[in-house]
Amino acid sequence: MLYRLKDAGYEAYLVGGGVRDLLLGREPKDFDVATDAHPEQIKEVFRNCRLIGRRFRLAHVHFGREIIEVATFRANHSDEEEGGITEEGRIVRDNVYGTVEDDAVRRDFTVNALYYNIKDFSVVDYAGGVEDLEAGMLRLIGDPEVRYREDAVRMLRAVRFAAKLGFRIHPEAEAPIFDLGHLLTDIAAARLFEEVLKLFMGGCAVQTYELLCHYNLLQYLFPQTAEVLESDQHGLFHALILRAMENTDARIAAGKPVTPAFLYAVFMWMPMQRRAKELRREGMTEVQSICEAGGEVLSEQSRCVVFPKRFSLQTREIWQLQPRLKRTTGKGPLRLLGHPRFRAAYDFLLLRAEAGESHQELCDWWTEFQVENPDVVAQAASRAAPKKRPRRRSRKKSPDETPASGTGESK
Ligand code: ATP
Ligand code: MG
Repeated sequence: MLYRLKDAGYEAYLVGGGVRDLLLGREPKDFDVATDAHPEQIKEVFRNCRLIGRRFRLAHVHFGREIIEVATFRANHSDEEEGGITEEGRIVRDNVYGTVEDDAVRRDFTVNALYYNIKDFSVVDYAGGVEDLEAGMLRLIGDPEVRYREDAVRMLRAVRFAAKLGFRIHPEAEAPIFDLGHLLTDIAAARLFEEVLKLFMGGCAVQTYELLCHYNLLQYLFPQTAEVLESDQHGLFHALILRAMENTDARIAAGKPVTPAFLYAVFMWMPMQRRAKELRREGMTEVQSICEAGGEVLSEQSRCVVFPKRFSLQTREIWQLQPRLKRTTGKGPLRLLGHPRFRAAYDFLLLRAEAGESHQELCDWWTEFQVENPDVVAQAASRAAPKKRPRRRSRKKSPDETPASGTGESK
C-alpha cells in the first residue's frame, strides 16, 4: 500500500502502533497509514477502498477480511474559536488537513508518533519517540494536562500501553491522571466500550486491571464494581476478578476465544449479588432475584459504558445458570448441558470455586458429567458458536464519534 501511494506521487508513511511494535520486535495488532493524499485521491489509488466518516473522512482499504486505515495528515485548527474545542478543552471537531509535522504533534505519545517513510526506509521522529522507546517511557506530546483535557481517553491509553509494553508512564504524564479521571464521564459511552475491550481483551488484563485500580480509573468504567471493591473486606471480589483476568490472558495467549459477556459476568457479579440479596429480602426467589438484579445492574452500567444487548443477554444467562448448576439430580443436569451458555456458566462456576466462593466438589461433578456426555457437549458448543463477522478496525481518533461496533466478539 505504501509503495502504491508513493508511486502515485504521494507521501506515504506507516505510523502509530505498527511502527512502535515493529521497532520493539513485537507483532503489530494493526497497521495505520498516513499520507498527504486526500481521501478522494486515496480512493483513486485503491480499488478496494471505502471512505468512511462524515466530518473527518478516512479511507478503509480492504484486503479480504483485513482492513487498513489510511488517513490524510491532520492539523490542529489555527483559529481556536472555529476549532471545535469546548470550554473544558475537549476536542469535538477535528477536520483540517495538514503536513506530516502537523500530524505528528496531534498524536498522543511520542512512541506513537514515529513515521516509517517508504521513500527512503527511514523512521521519521518529530517528537523524540525513538529515545523514549529505548527508555521504555510513555511521554505525552505537549502539556499532559491539556492533552488529557482534549481527550480523556488518552489516560486509558496510557494505562493500556504501560500494561501491554511494560513501559513506565513519564512522571509528568502520570501525575494528572490522579486528578483528571472524572473527565472520562464526558466520553461517549459507546467509545468507552471499545476502550474496555482493548483494555481487558488485549492479553494483559492482569496488569491493566491493577493499573486502573492504582490510578483510580476503574470507577469511571465500572462504577458499581469499584464501589463493591471498596467494601470488599476479605478481598474475595478482588480475588475473583484477578483470577478471571489471569484466565482471560491465558486464553488469549493460547489462541482461545474470549467474550465480553464473561468479563462483565465477573465485574458485575458482586453488584448483581448485592442487589439480588435485597430483592430476596423483599420476597423474590433466587432465580427471580438474579434475573431482576441482573437487568438492573447492567442497565445502570450501560449508562457510562455501553454494553451491547447481544452480550448483556449472555451475561445474564451465565448468572441465571449459577443456581441451576447447584442441582445435580433428575433430568435438569442433562438439559443444562445442552444450553448454549452452559460452558461459560461452568467456567464461571470454576472461577468462583478458585476464588473460594463455590465448592470444588460441585465443579468436579460437572467436569465428570461432561466427560460422560460428550455428544450433548458437542451439540451445545456448535449452538453457542457465534457467527463470523468481517473484521473491522475501530475508529478511535475523533473523540466525539461513535466507534464502529463489531469488535471483541469471541471468534
Ligand atoms: P494498538 O493498535 O496496538 O492498540 P496503536 O498505537 O496503533 O496501538 P491505535 O488506537 O491503533 O493505537 O491508534 C493508532 C495511532 O493513532 C496511535 O499510535 C496514535 O498515534 C494515534 N491515536 C490514536 N488514538 C489517539 C488519541 N486518542 N489521541 C491522539 N492520538 C491518537
Ligand atoms: Mg493500531
